[in-house]
Amino acid sequence: MPQNNKILEVKNLKTYFYTDDGIVKAVDGVSFDLKELETLGIVGETGSGKSVTALSILRLIPQPPGKIVDGEILFKGQNILDMNIKELQDFRGNRISMIFQDPMTSLNPVFTIGNQLMEAILAHQTITKKQAREKSFQLLEMVGIPDIKRRFNSYPHEFSGGMRQRVMIAMAIANNPDILIADEPTTALDVTIQAQILELMHELKEKTKSSIIIITHDLGVVAKYANRVMVMYAGKPVEFSEVDKIFYKPCHPYTIGLMRSITRLDQERKNVLKPIEGSPPSLIDLPIGCIFRVRCEFAVKQCSLSYPELLEVSPGHYSACFRANELFAGFKNLDFLKTKK
Ligand code: ADP
Repeated sequence: MPQNNKILEVKNLKTYFYTDDGIVKAVDGVSFDLKELETLGIVGETGSGKSVTALSILRLIPQPPGKIVDGEILFKGQNILDMNIKELQDFRGNRISMIFQDPMTSLNPVFTIGNQLMEAILAHQTITKKQAREKSFQLLEMVGIPDIKRRFNSYPHEFSGGMRQRVMIAMAIANNPDILIADEPTTALDVTIQAQILELMHELKEKTKSSIIIITHDLGVVAKYANRVMVMYAGKPVEFSEVDKIFYKPCHPYTIGLMRSITRLDQERKNVLKPIEGSPPSLIDLPIGCIFRVRCEFAVKQCSLSYPELLEVSPGHYSACFRANELFAGFKNLDFLKTKK
């Protein structure tokens, strides 16, 4: 079970991109924390600022055009935004490491898997090459790569997509990081392989006693693996809570929309898949008021006048919606969702 110790605290993070078309407010006031041994899901449609949030944590925002313009990112109390280059190098891949959607973009095609794994280990650990090789074998075994001695000398293109992602996971856990950030780690994989990779990450989290931030557009993944979830829309968190609470009583119309648009085995098909009308807005020159209101069936006049703050609707459950309390009071359970067309 997750403990209450906060290992990471993100406070009012703002990351903007200064483009020829204007300022893209990709992340605009994101706050959340991650506890030890916790899995936190970050959910939202494409373009909602999930990846930019993750890249900001590792200070991997391309500058220019990007810039972290405000906020704090505290790792065990130390502000990552104040770290110098040397501190950052020690920190990345060592204390926090990241798994990306497409392993091919992270693995170097001209080096063997073994070489890259050893390099990842030797970058942070003062051990001999022989020891790093032994450790690489252990890691490949942990992530379920068969025929390790031969595979160690293979190149990335000789691996399947699922196997490459396993190697990426091995690299990510090579230095026993405290936090693993997985950005859509299974989106590029076949459905059957997706489940295996998610299970693997879950098992390894238990073994290595780390925390995970999993970024996904898939609420099913969140329901199965996350302890808490932050729902993002247009660069802002719109709902944040323990997973059970959000699934039982979603208190933001966007979350409700996301839930209606996923397949549920316990419902008749005709009631199940209902996409959210419209599309996410451009993040340049966002209008005053709630950004979701133009797609929202619960919108009232107030929604166009000011942006609703993220407020607590029940202990630990936050929503940025003027009607959050009504939504909270109105739902007995998800039957409400079934009756909506
Ligand atoms: P998500 O991960 O939720 O799909 P992202 O965090 O990748 O969304 O992107 C959020 C917004 O930031 C998008 O509008 C995207 O176009 C913008 N963005 C990301 N990277 C850049 C960049 N290098 N230059 C300009 N805009 C960017």
